Amino acid sequence: MDFNNTELAFRSKSAADLRRSYLLFSALNHQWLVKLGELLVRLSFFLRLPIKGIIKKTVYKQFVGGETIADCTPTVRHLLQYRIESILDYSVEGKIRETDFDRTTELTLQTMAAHSKYPHLHLAAFKCTGLARLELLEKMSRGDLLNSSESDEWDRAVARMQRLAKYAKKEGCGLMIDAEETWIQPAIDQAVNQLMREFNTESCVIFTTVQLYRTGRIEVLQKELNDAKAGGYLLGVKIVRGAYMEKERERALKEGYPSPIQPDKQATDRDFDRAIHLLTEGLGTPQTPTGNALVIGTHNELSTQAGVDALEAHGWTPGHAPVWFSQLYGMSDHISYIVASHGHRVAKYLPFGPVQEVMPYLFRRAEENTSVAGQTGRELRLIQQERQRRKKAH
Ligand SMILES: Cc1cc2nc3c(=O)[nH]c(=O)nc-3n(C[C@H](O)[C@H](O)[C@H](O)COP(=O)(O)OP(=O)(O)OC[C@H]3O[C@@H](n4cnc5c(N)ncnc54)[C@H](O)[C@@H]3O)c2cc1C
Repeated sequence: MDFNNTELAFRSKSAADLRRSYLLFSALNHQWLVKLGELLVRLSFFLRLPIKGIIKKTVYKQFVGGETIADCTPTVRHLLQYRIESILDYSVEGKIRETDFDRTTELTLQTMAAHSKYPHLHLAAFKCTGLARLELLEKMSRGDLLNSSESDEWDRAVARMQRLAKYAKKEGCGLMIDAEETWIQPAIDQAVNQLMREFNTESCVIFTTVQLYRTGRIEVLQKELNDAKAGGYLLGVKIVRGAYMEKERERALKEGYPSPIQPDKQATDRDFDRAIHLLTEGLGTPQTPTGNALVIGTHNELSTQAGVDALEAHGWTPGHAPVWFSQLYGMSDHISYIVASHGHRVAKYLPFGPVQEVMPYLFRRAEENTSVAGQTGRELRLIQQERQRRKKAH
């Protein structure tokens, strides 16, 4: 796959789109500017300064579909023209009230309801911290006993997940549960595992997420495959490298336990490749599919190519395997467009939510784009290459 084919990669982008992305990624390339921007935005919201308009036209436009599901419609349609699915994602984070958890549940249900308008969309997603309090997930994960009010609180969180899973099953939609920090992940894994056993009996409704920047995940995946087979249910997995590396390492150092993160990037990359091989093998073949399904969530070109090659090696023709290559909206669009143009299933997380509420998501994207070595540089190089190509062509 030629990821340098910018004509194909950016064929949906106007000159103005490319210019806007170029300016934005240029700014994101400077860590001091990102830090300053974050500070100014926080201060402006605190002082109630009218900055919503500026944000909406810049960073929000690059990475977010809109404030509501309806706002996302033009983007969903636009991406579908290029055979790219959207995963509508209510990206409001850090909430602690039960009413907020109920609201996130309602909005996630609505993302799946929107699928009836677009039969080509197959996936939805949520974060457990959107449905339950972080401290509760942490306490559960430590194995501490919950008091009776906490027990009720957990029951309500499980009921929310059950509602979402039931609806996903009814709508024939795959529902991915994001992976988060290691100190809350045991509670998430336990809940997701229960959902898989209950709902993945005929098809993959529930997708767990495994972060390959953690050590020992290949053994975990092998166990997941064995447990699913023995337990008579199907395994849906989204694999990612992992988004909380710095935070994880800092906490481990501070609290004096061994870091749960791989020693270096190479080790993460090696396990990501191994996971691709293990899980594509776990799909069976086109003649004898197991029913398992996979989402490869990455902006890495080599991993994407490894996924494509592994499917081919198992005899799958493009688009026929229950596998999605997935990226975040506004990031690595060249991968999404090129992989989709080869006939593979591609789905982009398309966040939505009120501007101020989505800011934590946007700050993370901004930080990720400054900290992930090489990625912003790659975006800039490709955009520049395409702008020059167009200039020459005229
Ligand atoms: C569709 C999608 C869904 C996602 N869902 C989740 C999710 O549910 N949970 C979650 O945590 N993240 C999620 N992410 C984010 C993801 O985990 C990565 O942070 C991000 O995609 C960058 O990794 P990469 O494979 O794209 O690219 P790369 O640029 O190849 O890899 C960067 C990643 O490698 C790892 N890494 C970098 N340096 C080192 C090092 N020194 N040692 C060890 N590892 C290192 C880190 O994980 C870093 O983010 C998602 C990403 C996508 C595209």
